[in-house]
Amino acid sequence: MDNTDIEYGTDVFNEGVMREYLAKDTAEALLHTMRDHAPLDPAIANEVAHALKQWAMARGATHFTHWFQPLTGSTAEKHDAFFEPMGVGQTLARFSGKNLIMGEPDASSFPSGGLRRTFEARGYTAWDVTSPAFIKRHANGATLCIPTVFCSYTGEVLDKKTPLLRSMQAMEKAVRRLMACFGEPADGRVVCTLGPEQEYFLIDKAFYLKRPDLIQCGRTLFGAPPARHQQLEDHYFGSIKPRVIAFMEEVERELWRLGIPAKTRHNEVAPAQFELAPMFEELNLAVDHNMLIMETLRNVADRHGFVCLLHEKPFAGVNGSGKHNNWSVAYNGKNLLDPGKNPQDNAIFLAVLASVIRAVDLHADILRAATAGAGNDHRLGANEAPPSILSIFLGDELTGVIDRIEKGSRAAGGQTPTLRVGVDTLPPLPRDATDRNRTSPFAFTGNKFEFRAPGSSQNCAGVCMVLNTIVAESMDVLADAIGKLPKEKFNDGLQKILQAVIKDHRRVIFNGDGYSDEWVAEAARRGLPNLRTTPEALAPMLAQKNLDLFAKEGVLLPTEMESRHDVFMEEYERKVTIEGKAALEMARSMIEPAATAEFGAVCKAVEAARAIGVEPGVASVRDVAETLGRGLDALHAQCAALERALGDSPAAILDALAALRATVDKLEEDVDDARWPLPKYRDMLFVY
Ligand code: ADP
Ligand code: MG
Repeated sequence: MDNTDIEYGTDVFNEGVMREYLAKDTAEALLHTMRDHAPLDPAIANEVAHALKQWAMARGATHFTHWFQPLTGSTAEKHDAFFEPMGVGQTLARFSGKNLIMGEPDASSFPSGGLRRTFEARGYTAWDVTSPAFIKRHANGATLCIPTVFCSYTGEVLDKKTPLLRSMQAMEKAVRRLMACFGEPADGRVVCTLGPEQEYFLIDKAFYLKRPDLIQCGRTLFGAPPARHQQLEDHYFGSIKPRVIAFMEEVERELWRLGIPAKTRHNEVAPAQFELAPMFEELNLAVDHNMLIMETLRNVADRHGFVCLLHEKPFAGVNGSGKHNNWSVAYNGKNLLDPGKNPQDNAIFLAVLASVIRAVDLHADILRAATAGAGNDHRLGANEAPPSILSIFLGDELTGVIDRIEKGSRAAGGQTPTLRVGVDTLPPLPRDATDRNRTSPFAFTGNKFEFRAPGSSQNCAGVCMVLNTIVAESMDVLADAIGKLPKEKFNDGLQKILQAVIKDHRRVIFNGDGYSDEWVAEAARRGLPNLRTTPEALAPMLAQKNLDLFAKEGVLLPTEMESRHDVFMEEYERKVTIEGKAALEMARSMIEPAATAEFGAVCKAVEAARAIGVEPGVASVRDVAETLGRGLDALHAQCAALERALGDSPAAILDALAALRATVDKLEEDVDDARWPLPKYRDMLFVY
């Protein structure tokens, strides 16, 4: 293959296609709607629908679907054929403005947290004009996908997309207000940007099919770490094996066709772990694209005899997978987290930075909640991923700047002079990848924040929705204060406001080693929350301050927030229960028989040796039998304990599971390799 057949964006209903298929005025109207998030003029819906259908059918699509993001965490679609029967043996391709704008999936089986009672199951999907339609290809056909939001008939949101769009509106309002304080035009274009780096594992499908735990839970419930895993640090950025690169190249081609700017690919820290990073895009689109990236990774892996594992911790003792959310916001095309080169830009940058610092300190609890989940619990705080304590890394240079603002008038002669906001120019801040602190959950990386706590399988919509909301609230508070400053005292006043924010929220800044025990103790002294498990981390969703905040910013009503809390808790409990049941079944039907057979064989060997009067070795073999026997006893007791725990809390299940796992992993060492019923880590992680 060469690069002459590379297609970019050919399966997207993009500007070029619109201009080709639509009358000039209609194309302009639609583009205006998309760009400026303006309401769609219903008068053009039929024409747009017709054009979409013509284009999609010309590209081989036979069906269309409203594509949406329910609270399950994945995407949902229900396909309808374009064709409707018309008399004997004839069909007519029908797809109207009504089909385009609104759909009515039977929604009774999607989680709603009590917002929608089953007997009034209907929900509806509505076209999200800001994200372009695209074509998904399958082995024998193609489907036109229309990105939509998903609501109940009474208007409550049932998806991850609607609150994200609302949070973008909150940001738009807040950023405009803040910019106006600096004398910038008050109606500028606000664009939140996101570049999500996606980590994943690839293993050979043959191994996967022999692991009921991977099939049912997405992670291994048993398995001893092999002698060699990641100690040699030779996998990270190592040369990519041919079978993997072939897979990656196919993934990229598919993504490019969908207009997804897949840019970087490399080996990650753990064996069999990889990363794909796209170029950043407008937030809403980047979220959709990340959902498509995950789906494409899974589908293409299957075609290559691989399975792509997106779970946050598929292998115990081996690095887990995250999704680094690189987030920023731009005003009239200028990145507000880029310090810029003159005092005015610097002042804006510092105000935005202060807003983020204030937001993360005040609302660390709800930001942590957005990263909660059964899978991510094994990662956050497990000494290899960012801890569940949210702190901000600024780096030495920027921390120095913050210090100089904080010290303010207290800076005596001989010390580094105070930085006069709006008058002085900031020193250059390095944007160098090498000095980054990888242990921080929330790091400033030169011109954006990189939020590393989100899990590899999570939809970025949740975290970005929270980030937008809390930052918008901080910007509002700053704009309230800055807006009141008299012109002649603007710089001094701004200086004081920023100084106060930094003083109040300084405790959230931490540039040291986030994995260390010292930090856990230090964070406790600073009063920063450390919410380790999903139930703890989700609880802040019900706190009055958070319900008020999300209502005030117009992102989620208290009922919507509470229902989300219930959905996520229920999902967590279900996942943990499934893990408990799967482990019990595997232990009893796979591990116990193998260990019993081994025990029998060893006992027989002792007997046989005795029968012919061989003494050397008998004592050692007896020891082995003892060890196996004790393992079997422990296994038996721990299975019974897990069974009891299944009727108890998720915490009890997880404890019982951990105890059982320790026994099984020990047996894995003691039982004849030929008899062990599960593929081992040393195979799954290295053979491909
Ligand atoms: P690395 O972190 O590997 O050094 P980069 O810093 O170039 O790489 O970018 C990592 C991710 O951050 C990429 O997806 C990139 O597109 C994204 N990114 C860069 N600038 C921005 C921005 N202004 N807003 C959001 N994401 C950004
Ligand atoms: Mg990065």
